[in-house]
Amino acid sequence: MQSNGTAAGARSLTAWPGGTAIARYGIAIAAVIAAFVLRLVMVPFLGDQAPYLFFLPALLLAAGIGGFGPGILATIVSMPLVYALVAHSGAVGWPEILNGAVFALIGLGATWIGERLRRARERAATREAHLQSIIDTVPEATIVISDRGLIQSFSAAAERMFGYTAAEAIGRNVAFLMPSPYREEHDSYIRRYIETGERRIIGGNRMVAARRKDGSTFPIELAVGEVWLGRQRFFTGFVRDLTERQETEARLQALQSELVHVSRLTAMGEMASAIAHEINQPLSAVTNYLNGCRRLLAGEERLGTVRKALDSASEQALRAGQIIRRMRDFVSRGESERRIESLARLVQEAAALALVGAAEKGVRVSFDFDPQVDLVVADKVQVQQVLVNLIRNAIEAMEDSERRELRIGAHLDDGMIAVEVDDTGAGISEDIAQRLFQPFATTKANGMGVGLSISRTIVEAHGGQIEARPHAGGGTTFRFTLPAASRDALAGG
Ligand code: ADP
Repeated sequence: MQSNGTAAGARSLTAWPGGTAIARYGIAIAAVIAAFVLRLVMVPFLGDQAPYLFFLPALLLAAGIGGFGPGILATIVSMPLVYALVAHSGAVGWPEILNGAVFALIGLGATWIGERLRRARERAATREAHLQSIIDTVPEATIVISDRGLIQSFSAAAERMFGYTAAEAIGRNVAFLMPSPYREEHDSYIRRYIETGERRIIGGNRMVAARRKDGSTFPIELAVGEVWLGRQRFFTGFVRDLTERQETEARLQALQSELVHVSRLTAMGEMASAIAHEINQPLSAVTNYLNGCRRLLAGEERLGTVRKALDSASEQALRAGQIIRRMRDFVSRGESERRIESLARLVQEAAALALVGAAEKGVRVSFDFDPQVDLVVADKVQVQQVLVNLIRNAIEAMEDSERRELRIGAHLDDGMIAVEVDDTGAGISEDIAQRLFQPFATTKANGMGVGLSISRTIVEAHGGQIEARPHAGGGTTFRFTLPAASRDALAGG
């Protein structure tokens, strides 16, 4: 994508090349020679005035860049050259010798200071390289901006994430990494923070959109920290690309909804024969009533009875239609859709479906609804799926029991609605008690073991909880909660 060398060079703010020893000593000698040549050129104007003065910048340069060794070398090389200049003009007396000695001392002093400067610079460069290597290994993109929004540093991860090299990014306003409308507003965000000190994003995490070099936008999580260096304020942004996470979440969600759907189909498959039987009943009743009508019509004086029989026939046909409709709703895929629903109606419909065939198995069913329980916010089909799972499990658990009593109840509990399904079955088998709600935990020969795990997913997605506990009179109670929706809240909006 880009050459790492230039990128690293551009990223670092004050990195100093350091230089090889040859270059450092070479610079020292070159600086001294340049000073000598310049001073020679000046002889017609200056005569023998201030012969040392031109060498001082050369000494400072040699020591400043090269440190101790080059500083000493420059001082030593300068001495005979200065002497040559002075000797050239004739007189070499005590004043010149004294001047030479002072020059040598100044040279040593400059060398000492230069060496210290060089070490400090090297330490700073090492620290910076270290810091940069840390920044570059942080998986989040790290971007430092000034209080005017200008990018100061742009990490390797930022280069990969945004597609710009550090060289392209540094110095530009960070807003260019954002799509509209953040792009236009970012400067005013910073200004407002600086003026009011009111923190909106600093110190916290936020999901926002960002923009790559190719113009595509992507979701990011942004954390911003503030740092003062001297009197200058900087902001450091840590950027995490959420694209992958969101894609994974979407995939998981799709998978889960598929599983929820498949489990409904399985439940229905298991119930299909019972349902066929159940539908057969109203249909044969319809046939019987209609046959009766035909016979009755032979003696037309009993028209009133005929009308009654026809009414019963259409009632039975409606019943068969309802069973089919509920089945179709229940099995249909549909998006998850939460609405305000009457819990009583939701439970009754689910029970009508799940209890198909229960009477033949000798199961007595009772409903125990607290009249205060009213509305819930729920995806009706999904909550019905939970109820169908629990009721079918309860019926199956009672197959070998003498007492077969199923109670479905609902009451208010701490702002939530608690729904309970009790049975007088064998109770939860010990092998499975710990893994009850885990997928594929089953004790049944033909069981899939997904019903309870799906039920838990559905209940938790609704903000509730599901649990199982032994029932006082033997058997098991499954209890789940859903958030209650009050009529007042409804009226309010
Ligand atoms: P499956 O019914 O396919 O086995 P579930 O997840 O619905 O899958 O149930 C898992 C297991 O939990 C069942 O196999 C059974 O052992 C146990 N179980 C569920 N409900 C009850 C109940 N009401 N009484 C006793 N055991 C139950």
